[in-house]
Amino acid sequence: MTLKLSAGDPATEAVNHGRVALAMGGEVVEIDLTVPDGKVSVERLLPILQGLTNFLVDRAEAHAAAEGRQVTCAKGCGACCRQIVPVSQAEARALGRLVAAMPEPRRSHVRQRFQQALSALEAKGLLAEVDAARTTPGADAKAMGLRYFKAGVACPFLEEEACSIHPDRPLACRQYLVTSAPAHCADPAPGRIVPVPVPSRPSTALLLADTAESGVPWLPLVYALIYHDEVPEPAPTRTAPEILQDIFARLKHVPPPEAG
Ligand code: SF4
Repeated sequence: MTLKLSAGDPATEAVNHGRVALAMGGEVVEIDLTVPDGKVSVERLLPILQGLTNFLVDRAEAHAAAEGRQVTCAKGCGACCRQIVPVSQAEARALGRLVAAMPEPRRSHVRQRFQQALSALEAKGLLAEVDAARTTPGADAKAMGLRYFKAGVACPFLEEEACSIHPDRPLACRQYLVTSAPAHCADPAPGRIVPVPVPSRPSTALLLADTAESGVPWLPLVYALIYHDEVPEPAPTRTAPEILQDIFARLKHVPPPEAG
């Protein structure tokens, strides 16, 4: 089958077209790509990675259904939206740009929720733990992630237990679906949460490639506005094919998700 993914608009800019074949989950997927010409930021290519992630997750969900396991995630259940969400600097900048473009008073409300989440995490001593985990090679991010979840600090984009930026949510959020009882997500114990295995994880490939290029380790989603507001945007140094080749190559090295 052929997937069509685009990150460029031929009506407003010069674009290039190309085709790649990726071996994922035991099948070869051909992808027709439309990308902006010239050097671009990784952020510009997020629509391609979002489309690829959606495709992989849809396939994984269909595979689970064929085996009699139905996804139990539904609008109104935001239990998993208390977890730490790791994003690359490109995704952090895109989320910051998304909030900056929101009309008032929504923009102020969302900015306020970001500030409240940061204050709550700071009060529980979790920001220092997050910083240690993201900047120390070999740090125990799993234990930190569990403490973060137990703190119960909701994602600033969660509204009435639903994602208020669903079409623009990070890749890590797209990849997280479960077939276990929703109540288990709110009270996770070892082995009770059964995620849908996604054969390749674009979020991890993006994190690895983006960190290698920018030198910025993964960021928790709650840092997105600070990063967008305070870190100047560097000039792009690579073309779209160079960036995508780097990210797609790293898909091969992504380990399968762990249960629980
Ligand atoms: S971005 Fe959306 S899906 Fe992801 S944690 Fe926040 S509210 Fe949940």
